[in-house]
Amino acid sequence: MFSAGSEQVRELHSMVTESSVITIISHTHADGDAIGSSLGMRYFLRMLGKDAEVVIPEPVDGNLRFMVPSGELLSGSGRPSEAKERLDRSDMIICQDCPGFHRTGCLEEMLEGTKARKVLIDHHIGPDSDNFLLTFSECGISSASELVFWVLMAMPGIEGDAAKLPRETADALFTGMTTDTNNFANSVYPSTLEMASKLIEAGVNRDRIVAQINNMYGENRLRAMGWMLKDEMTITRDGVAYMVMTSGILKEYEIREGDTEGFVNLPLQIKKVRMSILCKQDGDHFRVSIRSKEGTSANQCARRYFNGGGHEMAAGGRLFCPKDIPGFQREDVAGYIERVTDRFFRGE
Ligand code: 5GP
Ligand code: MN
Repeated sequence: MFSAGSEQVRELHSMVTESSVITIISHTHADGDAIGSSLGMRYFLRMLGKDAEVVIPEPVDGNLRFMVPSGELLSGSGRPSEAKERLDRSDMIICQDCPGFHRTGCLEEMLEGTKARKVLIDHHIGPDSDNFLLTFSECGISSASELVFWVLMAMPGIEGDAAKLPRETADALFTGMTTDTNNFANSVYPSTLEMASKLIEAGVNRDRIVAQINNMYGENRLRAMGWMLKDEMTITRDGVAYMVMTSGILKEYEIREGDTEGFVNLPLQIKKVRMSILCKQDGDHFRVSIRSKEGTSANQCARRYFNGGGHEMAAGGRLFCPKDIPGFQREDVAGYIERVTDRFFRGE
C-alpha cells in the first residue's frame, strides 16, 4: 500500500512534526468508520505528544457510544463555540472518511478562514483535493480506517509493525473497518485481511469488538426492524426495495442515530432485489441510504436523483421538500422513489 518512507507519508510525517495542535474531522452523522478512523489517528498523534482532538459535526449517539469510553467527542452542533475555537487554533486539520468539507455539515462554515494546514485521508469517489495540501485517496480499500492503518504503518517509528501502534488505535481502526465491511461481508480486499491479521496478531480482541458492535442495541431497534420488514418494505417491478421512516415512526420506536444501522442492507437478501433504498426523515428533509448489488450503481442513482453520492454499491443523499417531494408523508416519498427508479432503470 504505502511503503515506509514513501514521499506522501514523509510529507505527512513532517507536517505532523511541525504541528502541535492537530484536529481530525469527519462527515455528518458519523458512522463507525468515521469515528474509528478519527480516534485511531487521534491516539496515534497523542502518542507522538501532540495535542490531538476529534471534532465531528454531531455528537456520537446510539450503539457507537462504546467507541468513546472517555465520554463525548467535541461536536459542532453540540458545542459550537468550542468546536470553532478548536478549529481556529489548529495548526493542522486532517479530514478523514469524508471526501471534502462539503460533507462536514455544520463544520463547513466553521472551517472557512481557518489557517491550519489541511490533509485529506479518504476512500470515497471524487475527493476534493483542491482544498487540501496533501491528499491520500484510495477507493479500492475497505474503509477509511484501513487507509489510516496503512498510512500509519508506513510512518517512521512504526515501520510495518502493528504492535507499535497504541492499543487504542489498533482497536479503533479494527472497529471502523469491521463496521464499514459489515463484519467482512463487503468491500474486503487482500489488504483488508492483511490488516485484520496484523491487528489480531498485535493483540486486538476481535470477538469482543464484534459483540460490542452487534449486541448492544436496545429492544426498540429489533421492534422497528420487524415493523419495517413486515409492514413497510415495498418492492417495485424493477427489483427496488424501499422503506420510508417518517418522524412519526421514528418517534414511535424511539429511534436514535445508529439504531437503524444495517436496515438498508436487509432487502438485498431477497434474490429479485437489485437495489435497496431507506429514507429517514431528519427534520425538514429525508436522509437517504442506498445499497445495490453488482451491476447496479447506487452511486449513480444517488447522484442523479437523491442529491448525493458515495461508493459504487453503497451511497446516500437527501430529499428536500418542495424541491424533490411534495410533502412529508410516506406516500410523497414512495411516489418519488417509484418514479425516479423507473427512470433510472430505463436509462434516463
Ligand atoms: P449511509 O447509507 O451509510 O448513510 O451512507 C453510505 C455512503 O453513502 C457513505 O459512506 C457516503 O459515502 C455516502 N453518502 C451518504 N449520504 C450522502 C450525502 O448526503 N451526500 C453524498 N455525497 N454522499 C453520501
Ligand atoms: Mn467509510
